[in-house]
Amino acid sequence: MELKEHLAVLAKREKSKVGNIIAAYEVKRWPEGRLDELVDMGMLISIENATTIKCPCCSKGCPVEPIRGTANDGTVYYEVLCTKEGSSDVDPFYLKQWQITKKIRRFLPKTLKRRKRKASPDLSQRETDIYRMVYAENKTPMEVAITFKCTAQNIYKHLHNAEKKLAAKNSRSISTERSQDLPHDKRGQESIEG
Ligand SMILES: [Zn+2]
Repeated sequence: MELKEHLAVLAKREKSKVGNIIAAYEVKRWPEGRLDELVDMGMLISIENATTIKCPCCSKGCPVEPIRGTANDGTVYYEVLCTKEGSSDVDPFYLKQWQITKKIRRFLPKTLKRRKRKASPDLSQRETDIYRMVYAENKTPMEVAITFKCTAQNIYKHLHNAEKKLAAKNSRSISTERSQDLPHDKRGQESIEG
């Protein structure tokens, strides 16, 4: 997996409820050097060792609690008790885990980051027609519904939207009128005129 793609996958995971903890057995499947790369970028931070890990000894992946032991020469080792393989040493790497940081959010795919598109501030043809029929031609929403072969509920919805848009337009035009009373700032316009 390319770095860019990997960042997007991890970003989605950080945002989701799947969890933002990466276990060592996952890292083992990553391309060589990817872990260091992500840590250097600040996308992952090392956190304290896991107390329970997926069994690295068998394909069952049962959860096991590594037991910490110290050899006669003082070296620390970890051991797991696998239900299939019995007692087995485990590479301490498998206890490590990392947390995905919030920094990764800037790699979220655009489609997930973008907010809902704003509705057009202009009335649609349908909204204009319905508004005119009800308020200018004094038709009932039921009559309009029959004309458009839809439900009255639908007509009310369109009317409501039309009213909301018109109200927004009115408040905008008032603020435009007010702004016209202010002295005009012509800075930066010379280059266009010239
Ligand atoms: Zn096992």
